[in-house]
Formats: sequence, structure tokens, C-alpha cells
Amino acid sequence: MTPLTLSHWPTPLDPAPRLAAALGLGAGDLAVKRDDLTDFGGGNKVRKLEHLVADARSAGATVLVTSGGAQSNHARMTAAAAARCGLGAVLVLGGTPTAEHPGNLALEELLGARVVAAGDVDGDELDHRVAEVAEQLRAEGQVPAVLPLGGSSPTGARAYLACAAELAEQAPDAAHVVVAVGSGGTMAGLVAGLGADRVLGVDTAAVPDPTERVAGLVAALGHSPGPLRLRRDQAGDGYGVLTPAAMAAMRTAARTEGLLLDPVYTAKALAGLAAAVADGSIRPGERTVFLHTGGLPGLFGHPVARELAAELLAHA
Ligand SMILES: *Cc1c(COP(=O)(O)O)cnc(C)c1O
Repeated sequence: MTPLTLSHWPTPLDPAPRLAAALGLGAGDLAVKRDDLTDFGGGNKVRKLEHLVADARSAGATVLVTSGGAQSNHARMTAAAAARCGLGAVLVLGGTPTAEHPGNLALEELLGARVVAAGDVDGDELDHRVAEVAEQLRAEGQVPAVLPLGGSSPTGARAYLACAAELAEQAPDAAHVVVAVGSGGTMAGLVAGLGADRVLGVDTAAVPDPTERVAGLVAALGHSPGPLRLRRDQAGDGYGVLTPAAMAAMRTAARTEGLLLDPVYTAKALAGLAAAVADGSIRPGERTVFLHTGGLPGLFGHPVARELAAELLAHA
């Protein structure tokens, strides 16, 4: 299936000399791949949606149905892709979506999506709710297309082969590409395109079995994964829960480069990069790319946003 074009490509690769120095790397060692600078509020899910929505349209879909956490960036970008393509969107959200923490929810209202709050359920129960919603839509005469959690089917993961190809042009000598791992499709596409030894994934505890997920998707793309480089030391108390290292990473990126990270994924990914430099698995002189996968709207749906504002105002 020919993918749709939903954003502008390639995304830029920006040098980050001040961040590099703060991490203990040489000033020229680090660059940031700006997949946060895409359409739909920014983020990695746009690449996946170009493939997933193309398939949905060719199957005659009238409405996209997907699932995620209360502040799912994938849900927000699915709603935006649906609007762009003249389709409906139903978002089945787990966790506790609340107007106290608007973030992505505010954008989903603007985008015209319908939200189904599934409550605090596990992955299987969330899938079950999605199937129920799809069944209801069919009974109403609609044609639903169910997109997987995080867009991470083999079709979605395949989209990151395109990012790998951009990086092969923009940073052919990159020894390390550092990326947050949620549902795993982004890392899987990069591994398929660049090789397992050049991709360092940092788990965010979005799924219980990230290694198996990524390996399975790499295999589905027709590659043998080899040993994956997947750090699980930044997950802290779980998905969406900030760690001191992630908080420090957000401040460092902002204060050295004006680079804005999100608390759920990219802050933990940069904390993982810092840990990799500290333990010697990334060394000065090795060209390193940090993949910024977006997610900034989620900051305004996270409790830390209020704490940051309070902290600032305490010194006003
Ligand atoms: C979904 C997401 C990720 C993780 O991507 P996966 O392909 O699900 O592993 C990373 N960063 C942000 C901002 C995301 O929204």
C-alpha cells in the first residue's frame, strides 16, 4: 500500500553542542533528529499513521478506532489524521482521563474525536473494549478500522524504515541512535533499517514485554534482530511516572538547547542516554543521534506541569 503524506519530510537533524557538553560528550558528537517537528502537534505516530490510514482507507473505513493511555499521543494524532482524511475517530482510553489534566484531551476535543473512557484496565481488557466499540459502530452502519495501541503493528513499524533511511543520509556515521520505547514500533523500524547494534532503546514501561515486542516486530519486517540494546533502568515507578533522572533530563535539554521534551517518553529516553554516557556504553567521540519523538502536549496533561509553574512562581 502506498503511504499517505501527512507531514513534511525529511525531518531536520539539528546539532546539539551545549546538550552534548552537559552530558559529557564532545560538542560535535550529538545531534537531535526532530520527529517532534511533524504535523498534528508533533511526534513519531505521524509516520506510522501514513501507512495505517492508507490501509484503512483502501479497506473502505469511515471511522478510525484506536486505544491508549489517558494522555496517549497516538490517540491525539489518530484524531488529527482522521480529520485530515474526512474520517471519524473513536479513542478508547485507559487510565484516568480527567479535565484536571487536559493535555492531549483538549486537542482531541478540537479535532472532533469521541472518547470512550475504559477505566484502569490491562491491555487485554482495553483490546476487548476496542472490539466492542468497533462492533457497535458496525451495527450503526459505519466501517471501523481498528489501529493498534501506539500504532505498533508491522505496518506501523515499517514507517520507521523511512526515518532510518533519512538518518542514513543525514548522519551516515552515527554509532548510536537513542530512542524511547513504548509499544516498540519505532525502535523496531530503526533496528530493521540501521541494525540492532546502532539503536539504543530506552524502555518507558508502556508495555510489560518491550524486548519481545520489538524483537517480534523486527522479525515481522523480515529482519533477524540480533541482540537488542534495550535499557530498562529508566522506567522508575512505571509508565508516566516521572523519575528524578527524567526531570533532570527535561531541564537540561531545555536549559542547554531550548529543546522541549515530554515527561513520559523523551525525558526518560534522554535520561537513558545520560546513563549510557555515565556507564561508558556511549563514549565521547562516538557520533550519537537522539531521536526526539514528540509528545509535548502530554506535558500539559501531566501533574508535573503544575509543579513546574508553582516552582517558578515561588521565586517570582
Ligand atoms: C508513542 C511514543 C513513543 C514510543 O514509540 P513506540 O513506537 O510506541 O515505541 C515515544 N515518544 C513519544 C512522544 C510517543 O508518543
